[in-house]
Amino acid sequence: MRAMVLEEQRKPLVYKDLPVPEPGKGQVLIKVKACGICRTDLHVIDADLKEPRLPLIPGHEIIGHIVQTGGDVSDLQTSDLVGVPWVGYTCGVCKFCKAGKENLCDNAKFTGYTIDGGYAEYTVANARFCFKLDEQYNDAAFSPLLCAGLIGFRSYHMIDPKMKNIGIYGFGASAHIITQVAVAQGKKIFAFTRDGDSKGQEFAKQMGAYWTGGSSEMSPEKLDAAIIFAAVGNLLPKALQDAEKGGEVICGGIHMTDIPSFSYDLLWGERSIKSVANLTRQDGLDFFELLKSIPVKTQTRQFKLEQANEALDMLRKGEIEGAAVLVME
Ligand SMILES: [Zn+2]
Ligand SMILES: [Zn+2]
Repeated sequence: MRAMVLEEQRKPLVYKDLPVPEPGKGQVLIKVKACGICRTDLHVIDADLKEPRLPLIPGHEIIGHIVQTGGDVSDLQTSDLVGVPWVGYTCGVCKFCKAGKENLCDNAKFTGYTIDGGYAEYTVANARFCFKLDEQYNDAAFSPLLCAGLIGFRSYHMIDPKMKNIGIYGFGASAHIITQVAVAQGKKIFAFTRDGDSKGQEFAKQMGAYWTGGSSEMSPEKLDAAIIFAAVGNLLPKALQDAEKGGEVICGGIHMTDIPSFSYDLLWGERSIKSVANLTRQDGLDFFELLKSIPVKTQTRQFKLEQANEALDMLRKGEIEGAAVLVME
């Protein structure tokens, strides 16, 4: 099978012909239809995340059909359409798993980081961590739902549902999905992009943002909550500055540059800061349930598998509106 392989961090992926993997017990072999490119893939490739399995096939926004099962895969069967997210395995026995917080599992494995992912024609996944999808999701454009959508949802879900004014810092794949959900639920979205990124601001408007501006502009109204998707630590004190008393600032990314020190009065007034780590399977079930009443449209730029390096570079430079997706079929 054709695959794009990370052999060494900070180096381009290598296009390879590899044997199709065999599913073990509890696993399924998936013919990959499409795999979205997540910012986390950049953090893996650029060595912001330090411990990938190498060599590695990146990619954790996978949509495809099951072509073989390794036995003991509960309700999944051949020809089912499934989505494969970032969390690819949890142990079920550590204190976090037992407390229903499998996203924090001490022994978790991650698709496209510590297990091979979807930048390939085929991939093997643990059946318990695949989401069975209706055939209506049989479209490459839906692959970003598997991480950008899910992490955006988990971040948004952390906010008190009574909050009305929500700031979003960094308007990429996650933001464009969750903005549609938030607007449908009557929220006012204040979208902050890189300064001077008028195209990004226009895009945020199209997705339903109430106000858009550069991240160094002050919010025109106090924010009840903020989600930071950009990997920029400076945005944290800025978001606190924009926040109303009691405001919640949620960091949605897996990596952020260092946060500068800031005066306590920015946090005072019961403002809070929280990070979002990974996802639970329940998040996935809840998210796809929500999409039944709020169907979102994803904006994607699609690339061939062998164009992965080019696509990653465009994402790195902020040149992708919405989400980049590798299409295998
Ligand atoms: Zn665990
Ligand atoms: Zn991701």
